Amino acid sequence: MAERTVVLVTGGGRGIGAAVVRLAARRGWDVAFTYAGNAARAAETEAAARDAGAQVLAMQADVADPRAVAATFAAVEARFGRLDALVNNAGITGPKATLRESTDAVWEQVFRTNVLGLAACCREALARLPAGGAIVNVSSRASQIGGGGEWIHYAASKGAVDTLTIGLAKEAAAQGVRVNAVNPGLIDTELHAMAGMPDRVARMSAAVPMARGGSAEEVAEAVLWLLSDAASYVTGALLPVSGGR
Ligand code: NAP
Repeated sequence: MAERTVVLVTGGGRGIGAAVVRLAARRGWDVAFTYAGNAARAAETEAAARDAGAQVLAMQADVADPRAVAATFAAVEARFGRLDALVNNAGITGPKATLRESTDAVWEQVFRTNVLGLAACCREALARLPAGGAIVNVSSRASQIGGGGEWIHYAASKGAVDTLTIGLAKEAAAQGVRVNAVNPGLIDTELHAMAGMPDRVARMSAAVPMARGGSAEEVAEAVLWLLSDAASYVTGALLPVSGGR
């Protein structure tokens, strides 16, 4: 029987992260995932992954808190004794704001979560991943579109994620670890409502060349491909999953 491999997904309770957790479980991975505070949704995701045959470890852990990140990786090691892949999915937009409206506190919170938290997870993962291991960062098409008038702070944080992905792919190649990013476009999750724009996907769909928003499952498919051996010569790639947007 093939050995079971272990993936850690940050922000796996809802949305894109939950779709990654469910699909990874169906593809034969054991799965650890974190969430920020919504224990009920995390429990649903955990149950679905278990039903798909995976061993699952769900943990409340704020990716912006370095001590929580260290504790997360220690818990994965204690439970599974190995880590084969990391999906850095946890991310926040902060409120809708132009640069002039935004505050340092918003920039700090968004960068602490989306950039510093992600970098800390990469550091912990690289100390553990074997040759053949992989990291996928969930960035955003906002890094290229710029987020002007909506959430420029968020777009700038995803620009940092793109650049980190390219640089870290070069550093980690010697270790046999691949590092890639997906750049989702307009994806139908609760993220938009949390930023105060519940109708955002419907309102902006017409501006997408494919004329619709995407689903969390469509992003998860791209993530699982980048994690798989089918992508064995792919590193440092930024893969748009955006319907052409
Ligand atoms: P979502 O529906 O809001 O779900 C976010 C998930 O991340 C939740 O499980 C949440 O936990 C968790 N989370 C949030 N902050 C966290 C923190 N500080 N520490 C640990 N976990 C945290 O968001 P989504 O739409 O799935 O987005 C996931 C990723 O895709 C993000 O990086 C986002 O920037 C990126 N993305 C999304 C879109 C889109 O259109 N939706 C487009 C491009 C990129 P709780 O459930 O406990 O709150």
